[in-house]
Amino acid sequence: NTAILWFRRDLRLADNPALHLALREAERLIPVFIWSPEEEGEWAPGGASRWWLHHSLADLAGELAKRGCPLVIRRGDSLAELRRLARETGAGGVFWNRLYEPAAIARDTRIKEALREDGLEAQSANSALLIEPWQIRTGGGDPYRVFTPYWKAAQALLPAGRLEPVPAALVPAAEPPQSLPLEALELLPRIAWAAAFPGRWQPGAGGARQRLERFAEDVVLDYSARRDQPAQDATSGLSPHLHFGDIGPRQVLMRMQRALAEDRGSGRIATTDHFLREIGWREFAHHLLFHFPRTPTEPLYDKFAAFPWRKPKDYAADLAAWQRGRTGVPIVDAGMRELWTTGIMHNRVRMIVASFLTKNLLIPWQEGAKWFWDTLVDADLANNTLGWQWTAGCGADAAPYFRVFNPVLQSQKFDPQGEYLRRWLPELAALPTDRLHMPGAQRPAIVDLAETRQRALDAYARIKGA
Ligand code: FAD
Repeated sequence: NTAILWFRRDLRLADNPALHLALREAERLIPVFIWSPEEEGEWAPGGASRWWLHHSLADLAGELAKRGCPLVIRRGDSLAELRRLARETGAGGVFWNRLYEPAAIARDTRIKEALREDGLEAQSANSALLIEPWQIRTGGGDPYRVFTPYWKAAQALLPAGRLEPVPAALVPAAEPPQSLPLEALELLPRIAWAAAFPGRWQPGAGGARQRLERFAEDVVLDYSARRDQPAQDATSGLSPHLHFGDIGPRQVLMRMQRALAEDRGSGRIATTDHFLREIGWREFAHHLLFHFPRTPTEPLYDKFAAFPWRKPKDYAADLAAWQRGRTGVPIVDAGMRELWTTGIMHNRVRMIVASFLTKNLLIPWQEGAKWFWDTLVDADLANNTLGWQWTAGCGADAAPYFRVFNPVLQSQKFDPQGEYLRRWLPELAALPTDRLHMPGAQRPAIVDLAETRQRALDAYARIKGA
């Protein structure tokens, strides 16, 4: 008999629990991907994500073809396509790995019920997280809103043991179902914008494995010392791979544990812990999104709903300057150009540009989150929401509102030689390093940093007692 394996954002065969669920129920497998962006509501994949998805799907299709079981590609209503495919092939069940975005949860719940009413088996599994969001509660039975106690509680629940091996061969449907060519999904941008992406990224499971290997062997040793320096290639670069499920967090955890078992040097223990803590932030972000599903658009803490942001007609020109890297504050402009050119921005610089947008420009964090959503290859609703709410000061574990990043000091501290600035603002390359960090080095700054810092503090003071 036959089972459908419904791929979504788990675009790999290794550590894919839905694959093993399906193979326990059936011999023949129909792997399918259904393009249905409307079902993700406001958060359909943005432009950079679509580029990644295209290439990651191509990689997955290649892996499946090698095992004799071609990927079926469809477009349209997910439930209707799954039903059609079950009818066409006589499949007895549908298996998939879970997602945690509110729209996806609602859709998947509806689909599971409908398929079961049809008399089909329908089961989901966890491929994306170390710990399910509902597995951890505070002593009082509530979800966590603070990271450190969350991660402490999580340590006791981390998965252990071995991952199931990838089958060398898979048995396809007796009659191959119809499939669209990948190009029919039109995921690649029509403009030349993504021209530099292929030089920077290799989407798919193979690219993810290579990154993880390089990181576990070598880069992690300097992670704590260099992770905050945007000019360095000192972090794992795994975020888009984790978002699309080219690789899963269990694979990352276990690879890091193996590296530790081989080398118990104290430096490696400390930096590995530090790195796994960042993986912990990803888990925490999903915990928050699951328990507070309104947070992609609304502040976690209600009193921030009254925050006196500027109005769209007043900030439109400043928002455009920020998006295009034309604010006149070099570290902000460098970051926004890195984002536009490569689909990624270093974490430290994300914090700087987000602070500049929300505090110095007093533009709502939701505008920044939307721009990131469209331009980041790692755009992830859980992580992006946490990052923006944290920086704006209205989310979980946020920095106190009175701590407004000074972009010049940040730039001097984390890019002391100006290497990052020169890379992304080549027109400034000839300036002496001390001038390079200063607003106005390249173009007049759109705001005065000290004045707008005070304006932000005054705005926060107005809601403080609320
Ligand atoms: P590493 O330092 O190697 O970390 C390993 C992994 O841990 C990352 O791949 C990521 O999955 C996770 N991680 C690290 N830092 C964080 C964090 N602060 N929050 C949640 N998970 C984290 N990350 C996204 O994946 N998608 C987003 O859309 C996103 N938007 C952000 C927006 C803002 C305003 C900020 C401040 C941060 C955002 N981040 C987002 C978090 C972080 O910047 C990236 O995860 C990180 O830069 C990815 O690089 P890396 O894979 O080399 O990270």
